[in-house]
Amino acid sequence: MKVSNLFMPTMREVPKEAEIPSYELMLRAGLMRKMASGVFNYLPLGCRVLSKIEAIVREEMDRAGAQEILCSALIPSELWKESGRWEAFGPEMFKLRDRNEREFCLGPTHEEVFTDLIRNEIKSYKDLPLNLYQIQTKYRDEIRPRFGVMRSKEFVMKDAYSFDTTEEGLDVSFNKMYDAYCRIFDRLKLNYSAVEADSGAIGGTGSKEFMVKSDVGEDDVVFCNSCGYAANVEKAPVVINKCSKNEELKALEKVETPHAKTIEDLVGFFNTTSDKFAKTLIYKADDMVVAVMVRGDREVNEIKVKNLLNVIDLELADEKTVQEATSAIVGFAGPIGIKADRLLVDAEVLNMTNMIVGANETGYHYINVNYERDFKGTVGDFRNITENDVCPKCGGKIEVKRGIEVGHIFKLGTKYSKAMNANFVDEKGEEHPIIMGCYGIGINRTIAAIIEQNHDEKGIIWPLSSAPYQVIIVPVQIKDELQRKTAEKIYDKLTKMGVEVLIDDRDERAGVKFNDADLIGIPVRITVGKKIKDNIVEFKLRRDKDLKEIKVDEITENVINFFKEEGVNL
Ligand code: ATP
Ligand code: MG
Repeated sequence: MKVSNLFMPTMREVPKEAEIPSYELMLRAGLMRKMASGVFNYLPLGCRVLSKIEAIVREEMDRAGAQEILCSALIPSELWKESGRWEAFGPEMFKLRDRNEREFCLGPTHEEVFTDLIRNEIKSYKDLPLNLYQIQTKYRDEIRPRFGVMRSKEFVMKDAYSFDTTEEGLDVSFNKMYDAYCRIFDRLKLNYSAVEADSGAIGGTGSKEFMVKSDVGEDDVVFCNSCGYAANVEKAPVVINKCSKNEELKALEKVETPHAKTIEDLVGFFNTTSDKFAKTLIYKADDMVVAVMVRGDREVNEIKVKNLLNVIDLELADEKTVQEATSAIVGFAGPIGIKADRLLVDAEVLNMTNMIVGANETGYHYINVNYERDFKGTVGDFRNITENDVCPKCGGKIEVKRGIEVGHIFKLGTKYSKAMNANFVDEKGEEHPIIMGCYGIGINRTIAAIIEQNHDEKGIIWPLSSAPYQVIIVPVQIKDELQRKTAEKIYDKLTKMGVEVLIDDRDERAGVKFNDADLIGIPVRITVGKKIKDNIVEFKLRRDKDLKEIKVDEITENVINFFKEEGVNL
């Protein structure tokens, strides 16, 4: 491809809306453009990267025995009503009606569609196991679309669904997908971890997220350096050792704290530390008002709360609800006398003696509060793990790091097959629900994750496996006959070998061409300059600082070696 013909609108300026490097570089390198918040159009380079990643995913899914199909994004509401998710999925689902007022949604995920397909076609154990997948566009009306294609309203997902007759069969299907995912992310040269993830109210025995380590990730991941335990913070249990109380219980007292509402205000007011306080947060959980109590310096883990309550929606209550529950303005909630349907108390609070809490009265706090003597609630693990906690598996030291979730594999069990009557008949003629698993990879988010891990101040540094083009040839002076002709010859030769080559035939200064080549991140640059008189060109890898001078007839060998090193076939 000639750069002069390529639709590659690069940008020098850093676009204002780009909050993170991958978003900035995808815009600047002309991979894509934004059409609306969370909605993007892919240009030639971006489109090629998408196809490259899809091809790797396809190869590995096929290798693992999954079969590709393609479903519609437009899904009738009846299927979702059967599974109970028409309401439960919530406002993230795009709902619409056709001209006959029939309700549809734009599929945010396809469990219902695949379950429906299977129940209509599969009758016997003889037809199972089966694993079907698609690479298809999903729609989610994200509350906060951000970070470019990392969290968008429309995105391409590879979603696979496995169908088995036994739990052991599901384990086999799950492990095959696990291995396939490792191969995919290895081939994409990502630095990732497969971590334990929440399986929600479904329970189930397995859910793993593939996390790409990155500071811009939206998930917190716990790692144990001793035993290798790795889990999403949402999931990681906190181990609390009951400690004996050596402080004497003092008499409960109500204290006027006129201007102190936040924990910081209170720390100043009482001249103490935040771990002496217990904060009480008020939530709306479906139709209930729920108070959750954790130590002042802790974060409530909403997933743990949600799982305990077995509710669909959980969100911090609005001001009015807080006022009704506490009979006070916001900032004075506490466990004593709170009007809530449930009071959940984090286990750590039981280890606190003479703590300070809100008094459910504007301008007042209680001091010397003690669990059991002064209040009681449902005790459990309701907070996020921190680096000061121990590994829940081995008791070792843990680290908390940020990660980008690029994939998720999940044992569904019979949740959908039971709800939608997807059964098989066994050897004895008895009917059972099919046992399912589901497996997703966000293709666009994976592009962003690759860029987050592979860029420098000049631009993207594509790994060979996902690069839009593999080699770029830069004749320094396109008007120089020998340079142009040699560049074209190299182009023809490499193209014939099956290499994806760009030739920068523009009549531009060399600096401009080098900057663009660096920005769009082509892995190999071959520069044809003055030394071509001596049959010498420059061979430079985007990821390396140094370049080397080689003879024209050594180009092929150098390219082949690089492809071998990178594990990419020619
Ligand atoms: P998140 O917690 O980030 O919202 P999710 O749990 O909703 O993700 P899944 O339903 O498991 O995601 O979807 C499978 C994969 O699809 C995710 O691992 C992710 O790579 C991708 N994905 C999900 N939502 C988006 C989005 N809004 N934009 C881009 N990719 C997404
Ligand atoms: Mg989501």
